[in-house]
This record gives sequence, structure tokens and C-alpha cells, in this order.
Amino acid sequence: MRPFAYVKPADLDAAVHAVAGDPGARFLGGGTNLVDLMREGIERPDTVVDVTALPLDEVIELPDGGLRIGALVRNSTLAADLRVRNRYPVLSQAILSGASAQLRNMATVGGNLLQRTRCPYFYDRASACNKREPGAGCDAFGGVNRSHAVLGVSDSCIATHPSDMCVALAALDAVVEARSVRGTRRIPLVDFHLLPGDTPQNETALAADELITAVELPPIAAPSRYRKVRDRASYAFALVSVAAALEVRDGTVTAIRLALGGVAPKPWRAHEAERLLLGGPATEEAFRRAADAELAPATVRPGNAFKVELARATLAATLRELSTGEDAG
Ligand code: SF4
Repeated sequence: MRPFAYVKPADLDAAVHAVAGDPGARFLGGGTNLVDLMREGIERPDTVVDVTALPLDEVIELPDGGLRIGALVRNSTLAADLRVRNRYPVLSQAILSGASAQLRNMATVGGNLLQRTRCPYFYDRASACNKREPGAGCDAFGGVNRSHAVLGVSDSCIATHPSDMCVALAALDAVVEARSVRGTRRIPLVDFHLLPGDTPQNETALAADELITAVELPPIAAPSRYRKVRDRASYAFALVSVAAALEVRDGTVTAIRLALGGVAPKPWRAHEAERLLLGGPATEEAFRRAADAELAPATVRPGNAFKVELARATLAATLRELSTGEDAG
């Protein structure tokens, strides 16, 4: 491991000043992804700014009925918060479906937003990877790509975003708050993560010197849930996941929010499916038609073509469960 400087600021101002003008600095929260990347030599910071002493570890009620989640709230704490479990079950379920209890106890909300892909070629420095080394090529194209993306991909990168929590946040219209020496700004979660295009190394809208300070959730009345399909029952990334909130009145869809995980380089807000369903009948046929339309632009490879039908079926099943109140587990 390369030597690096370590600082632990006591307040927000000191934290953002510690990285200002230093593109080689990285913020450290729970460390569950950054430390792994440093061990592998993929992240090579000059300075690690440990932010765990900052007062960003509370979940606070907002006047409009929403919640403000501090960036240092641990994933396990957030999943167990009664307000989250009762009002945003999709978020609690998504967090509990990810990683292991030990990792959830360490991982922070801010760090979860910034976790990097688990594409095996990205972690293998003997492989070609445009994300790790721009212009190097991509060994996933002709390699083992069963876990890779089918929506939002480019000729440079087909990696998936690994987070479950972020899929729920995308469906919930969450807003990320970030702070730097220039001040505070708010970024909608759906705009926070970037598609790869020609620059797969650029993964978020966050500037190098910006610190995530909070995530805000608007109020929501519709029932919601998270469904995840994976290779084994625990400690596995999603092959496909669905975060959904659905309100039905007299057989008509009156509110809907949908996002997909495991299928795209970012949490995938299913705008087309939402558009087709809102104001229409809450029927199996409508759910399937919307799922078909959302997956229609998919670009598949031999290893991951199965994800299209899996995503269609999971999306339709999640909507059916929400519309009928059934629980298929
Ligand atoms: Fe790298 Fe993306 Fe290709 Fe994986 S899919 S090897 S992350 S460029």
C-alpha cells in the first residue's frame, strides 16, 4: 500500500477545507469500499480525510413529513429506524437485502452512495478496464458478463451499480445534499449517478472536493416494497431488483414510483413504465406492458440476456403484490 496522509477534522468547515485544491484527497466514512479499493491499488489517495467525527449521524423529521438522513448514519441504523420502516419500507427492505450485518453496521449512507461497481475486471489489475484506466478497453465485453448491465450501457463500459439502498432512494425521489468550500448544493438522486458514455471513470455528479452531508426524503403516502433476485439468499449483489411504490384507487393507478437495480450502471428510474401506468388500470396486463416497454431498449450480451425477462417478471410481480397486498416473499 502507498503511504498517505491521514487527517480527522472535527467540524464540517475543516473537512471541506482539508480536500479543497487537493484532487488526491478522499473522504473516509465506514471504509467498507474505499479501504478495499486502496488495498487493491485501485484507489490511491494522497490524503485520507476521516469524516467520522462530524455531526452527520442523525435522522431528523422534516416539517413537510419527510426525513433528513445524515450522511454518517449507519446502514443498519437507518434500516431499523421505525420512521423508515413504517413510512419508507422499500428503503428499509433494500438496505437489509444488501451486504452482511457486519458491513451494514459499518457502512454509512454517504459511502453507500459512492460505492463503486463490483465488476470483477475492474478489481483485477491484469484486466483491461476503461473505468480504472480510461482508453484501456473492457474485458467484460468478451468475457464473463452475467452480472453486467443491459440498460444505459455504452461502448466503453457495461458495469452495474452495486447498491440496493440507492435503488430505493431513486424510487423515493431522494435529494442529496453536498457541501464544499463553495457552499451547499442539492442534487436529485436520479441525477447523482452518471451513465458511462465515453467517460466511465466519472461515476457521480459530485465534484472531487464535495462532501455528502445528508440525503432528504420527501413524504410519501403510497405503500412501497423492494424485491431482489440474486444467486443466493444473502450477501450477494442483485441480478435484478425492483423498488416500487404504488397507490391504487378504484382499480386505477393514482401514484407510482419505480426503480430497477442490477440492470444498469446507475440506479435505474423506470420513467417509461411509470408514464404508461399512471392514470391507467392496475391490472396484470398493464403491469406486463409497462415492464416490456421499460426493458425494450435493453442491449444484451450472451451472458446477461436472461436479465431482460427476469427484470420484466420481477417488475410485474412486485406491482402485482403491491396492488393486491399479497406477499410472495
Ligand atoms: Fe471496467 Fe466497465 Fe468494462 Fe467492467 S464493464 S471492465 S468496470 S470498463
